[in-house]
Amino acid sequence: MITFKIGGIHPHDNKIAKNAAIESLKLPNKVAISMAQHLGAPATPIVTKGDSVVVGQVIGEPSGFISGFVHSSVSGTVVAVEPRADIVGNMVTHVVIDVEGDIWDESIDRSEGLNSNIVASQDAILAKIKSSGIVGMGGATFPTHVKLCPPKDKKADFLLINGAECEPYVTADDRLMREKSACIAVGTAIMAKVLGGCKSYICIEENKPEAIAAMTAACSKYENIEVLKLKKKYPQGGEKQLIDAVTKHQVPSGALPIEAGCVVQNVATAFAAYEAVQKNKPLIERVMTVTGQCVAEQKNYLVRFGTPLSYILETSGCNLENAAKIISGGPMMGKAVANIEATTQKGSSCLLMLTKEQTARMPIGNCIRCGKCADACPMGLEPWLLYKLSENGNQFDALEDNKIFDCIECGCCTFTCPSFIPLLDIIRVNKVEVMKIIRNRAKK
Ligand code: SF4
Ligand code: SF4
Repeated sequence: MITFKIGGIHPHDNKIAKNAAIESLKLPNKVAISMAQHLGAPATPIVTKGDSVVVGQVIGEPSGFISGFVHSSVSGTVVAVEPRADIVGNMVTHVVIDVEGDIWDESIDRSEGLNSNIVASQDAILAKIKSSGIVGMGGATFPTHVKLCPPKDKKADFLLINGAECEPYVTADDRLMREKSACIAVGTAIMAKVLGGCKSYICIEENKPEAIAAMTAACSKYENIEVLKLKKKYPQGGEKQLIDAVTKHQVPSGALPIEAGCVVQNVATAFAAYEAVQKNKPLIERVMTVTGQCVAEQKNYLVRFGTPLSYILETSGCNLENAAKIISGGPMMGKAVANIEATTQKGSSCLLMLTKEQTARMPIGNCIRCGKCADACPMGLEPWLLYKLSENGNQFDALEDNKIFDCIECGCCTFTCPSFIPLLDIIRVNKVEVMKIIRNRAKK
């Protein structure tokens, strides 16, 4: 079966929310919409206290080439534009809005019917994707219009639509593919049109048979779109791993997928492209899984951006006394939530509650040179060596020589280590330092 060549692991997938159909989360009384929901420069707010806004209205404009538009997800009155702590505790400018009714911008087509007739030109599609604030919704949140504009000397041979969803627990993409397959197929055709009509593959792990069936049926009328069943192996959804699995092309160290003739987009991004181009709907909401063994009811919510996590937890009947750790995203690559008053963003795919037993750390032992971490690393790195160099301090040249910047922070090394050494924790800190050195050198 199709998969990547190097490394990888097989954690239990724990997709306990997979049978929960998408339901719209009731609006909270107040939202706080972050201006930094995308990779790159934060947006600049263009509303002030006292302004009235409607759903879909622009409230933040891009402040650089790699930046994005931000829209109001609710209707109501702006009560503050102020710095607030995000999920990990960083202070970021938010637009705070008191919710009043649910009035949408009249130009948004809210009808249920499918619009599969793609009439917009390549330039018009790109402009609409940009003005709709669409970013990579698999977690990276890179502005989509930038990714769809490869350098002039590079050509996309393949568009890979990433429906692998290899992170345990997360089921948002699975539900979206099962319930919105026809829209995703149109969204894929839209993005392929921008890229010059290249071959598209919708890539789904074997543990989502209903999604594979739905997407195969929806794509049957598109000659250039094919659905592929991939082996269940983590991190199958990593960009470089997906490209290797599907095309056998290798992305060189430190390079982007376009160097291997590929553009990778998430299924939720394809759906957002459909809604933007065919329905004139900007990105104001997404599907988010709320899950964990200590959650009363497993959920896949359609949630507006800016919704407080505390409101979602309360609505889901989550007993916080049983949750030792809350994670935004999946257990392998997600971020520990430091502030439950933080709000949902474009990259918020999952809210996972873990129990004390699930988060208990075993005593750390010595490295026994078993090599299991190197065998598991999907980037062909030697995690034990990166760990040793990191531990010794200031070994940045050696860390760069050993390609610490290629680490995709997948956590396979930590997962597999029999001595319970927190390899990724230390590698991640030193990767940040090495990346700073590389960036400063490039500026000179
Ligand atoms: S898996 Fe752990 S014990 Fe084995 S070589 Fe790597 S760091 Fe050492
Ligand atoms: S976290 Fe980094 S070093 Fe560890 S297995 Fe993943 S890519 Fe390799």
